[in-house]
Amino acid sequence: MHESGKRDKGRGKLRHHGEPVHDVPKGRKALLLQTPVLVLNASYEPINICGARRAVVLVLKGLAMPEEENGHDLHAARITMRVPSVIRLLEYRRIPHQTRALSRKNILLRDRNTCQYCGVVLPSGELTLDHVIPRSRGGSSTWENLVACCHTCNRRKGNRLLLETDMKLLKEPRPFTLHTSRHIMRMIGRSDTKWRKYLFY
Ligand SMILES: [Zn+2]
Repeated sequence: MHESGKRDKGRGKLRHHGEPVHDVPKGRKALLLQTPVLVLNASYEPINICGARRAVVLVLKGLAMPEEENGHDLHAARITMRVPSVIRLLEYRRIPHQTRALSRKNILLRDRNTCQYCGVVLPSGELTLDHVIPRSRGGSSTWENLVACCHTCNRRKGNRLLLETDMKLLKEPRPFTLHTSRHIMRMIGRSDTKWRKYLFY
């Protein structure tokens, strides 16, 4: 999520007031702070997912308010607060049409770590990116021409165009837009019942 310079001013404020946490073991607290939190725009439209740590910072900075809590308490900076499960930004944020940068990580996320030729799901380290139209044939590095691919399919395809092979794409590669993000939010949201009413409408 992008933030304006103005909003960044208070960053780091929390660190100076950090106090030892007595009741939650360190490891568990770290885990708790990584719990995914659904971020809603001021209009209640789901726009992002962030970690609980960031959600708490947004709430403490007065930029967002908790809409749902996950039932755990967080003690830090002389305050106790419930860890949010869903937060809502207090100021409406305009979301650009395309919010994600073109990167290996985002392409794997868009393709959900699934080889776009054979459908195998693998950890990120075991996947490569395939240029649908090979670079040697004039293909560019764009959202529409890059897909997640297993090494076997990558070798099999080689420098050929799809029509020169018997291989097919599972789906047409598209830019990672808010629509894609919402799809991912829904998938993650299936495990958190408190997200449901904001995601399935
Ligand atoms: Zn494959």
